[in-house]
Amino acid sequence: MRMSGLFVQTLREFPSDAEVISHKLLVRAGYIRKLANGIYNYLPLMQRVLKKIEDIVREEMDAAGAQELLMPFVQPAELWQESGRWEVYGKELMRLKDRHGRDMCLGPTHEEVITSIAREGIRSYKQLPINLYQIQSKFRDEIRPRFGLLRGREFIMKDAYSFDVDEEGLDKSYKIMADAYKRIFERCGLEAKMVQSDSGAIGGSVSHEFMVLVNESDENNAGENDVFYCSKCGYSANSNHAVSLLNNAVTDGGYNKADIIDTPAVHSIEELSEFLKIPASVICKSLIYVIDGKYVLALIRGDRTVEETKLMNAFSGNEIRIARNDEIDEIMQASGFNAAIGFIGPKGLKNIEIIADETVKDLKNFVIGCNQTDKHLVGANWGIDVELPSLITDIRLVEEKDKCVDCGSELKVTKGIEVGNIFKLGTKYSKAMNATFTDKDGQEKPFIMGCYGIGISRTAAAAVERHHDEHGIIWPLSIAPYRVIVVPVSDQDEVQMKTAEEIYKKLLAHKIEVIIDDRSERAGVKLKDADLIGIPYRITVGKTIKEGLVEFKNRATGETTNITPDEAIEKILAL
Ligand code: ATP
Ligand code: MG
Repeated sequence: MRMSGLFVQTLREFPSDAEVISHKLLVRAGYIRKLANGIYNYLPLMQRVLKKIEDIVREEMDAAGAQELLMPFVQPAELWQESGRWEVYGKELMRLKDRHGRDMCLGPTHEEVITSIAREGIRSYKQLPINLYQIQSKFRDEIRPRFGLLRGREFIMKDAYSFDVDEEGLDKSYKIMADAYKRIFERCGLEAKMVQSDSGAIGGSVSHEFMVLVNESDENNAGENDVFYCSKCGYSANSNHAVSLLNNAVTDGGYNKADIIDTPAVHSIEELSEFLKIPASVICKSLIYVIDGKYVLALIRGDRTVEETKLMNAFSGNEIRIARNDEIDEIMQASGFNAAIGFIGPKGLKNIEIIADETVKDLKNFVIGCNQTDKHLVGANWGIDVELPSLITDIRLVEEKDKCVDCGSELKVTKGIEVGNIFKLGTKYSKAMNATFTDKDGQEKPFIMGCYGIGISRTAAAAVERHHDEHGIIWPLSIAPYRVIVVPVSDQDEVQMKTAEEIYKKLLAHKIEVIIDDRSERAGVKLKDADLIGIPYRITVGKTIKEGLVEFKNRATGETTNITPDEAIEKILAL
């Protein structure tokens, strides 16, 4: 490719709306252009990167025995009504009507469509197992599209779906995908950690995410997920799923009788613990949430935080948020109280489900809200002063230095970008949509399914997050848009131009993806652009050509050597 003809505009400045480095660099280096919020044009250099990732994904998926197909991007509502997701999938599902007034949606994922395909196409156990996948644009009307390609509204995904006769088969299919994923990300030049993750409200299901870990000390790091891990035994999990052993905090408040006392204008746990001169761990915190439109009171020890996904899953919910002030007032009034926020407690509340985290079980002589403004109940005990809720489970966020449930060592936390996930679906969709096959014994059984996603466009952005420096992108060789850039320093110098052309043509003849920067630009501009765009190897033809030497530069290491043009070509061919 000749730089003079390449469709790319590099910018001097970073775009003003970009927060994270991959977004900044991909725009500035001319890879993407925003069309609308969360919707991007993939320009020619980007398209080459995406194709490389897709090719790696295809090769590994095919090698794992999966078959590629392509499903429609626009889907009829009927399928979503069958699965029950038309009602529960939130506003991320972009719904529209066709000219006949029929409800349709833009595909955010394809479980419904693939299940309908299997329902029609797979009759017998003899056709199983099978794994079908596609690579396609998805649309999700994300509430906060941000970080460029990392969280777009339209994005490219590889989605695969496995069908098995039984759980054992699913375990095998799942393992095959897990192994394929490891190879895929490795080949993309990314270290991706496989971590346990939330699998939603489908009880007993298993899922894992593949996380590209990012540097936390970087203030603008793009890791949207907290990953807790144990460096001793290897346990690792997304914070929405992570568990830990209960730590040994002080759990006895030391009061010798229950009493309602004044705690004026004390609104937070910190203020309360300071005011009463007690540790936060002897306070029982009461928080009101709204889960799928229903009120829930969550009790947790004052020194710990509620993990909202865990709480939501305890009620098999789809949506969770903390209650608004006016909603809390409404609950108070309905229960005959008018306590301000900060003084709420479980006793006497009506029309609300109450759940407790395991941390509150062992509390003794503790402090808790009693639904009277500026007052708290101190020295409370379960069963005497306040009822212990019957629903007690783990709804707490793990914290660093908590102990690993598997080996007891201290857990650590880091930030990660989820580039892929694998999920045991079981019969969630096949049962709902009546998708069955005839088993060996002649019985009709629902398919046992798994689903497996990879964010293709997000993977490209994650690669930039991991591989860049102050000068620009440093593509891993396997997914770079071009492998080599040949830069004649001066287009006025005949020898330089002739040598550069020769190197370029020889590399082309060897089918090496190469750019020659044949523009009549200043050397500084050309070299800066080469670094910004992130081509892994640069061959610069400058003054030293008089001695028969060119400069060979490795973008990743910054290492340069002066060698002959032929040596440079050999070096490239050897890579
Ligand atoms: P997330 O938790 O990040 O919202 P998800 O769990 O909803 O993602 P899936 O529905 O399982 O994601 O999609 C599979 C893969 O698609 C994800 O692992 C991720 O790499 C990618 N992906 C999901 N949402 C987006 C998005 N808005 N923009 C870019 N890639 C995405
Ligand atoms: Mg996820």
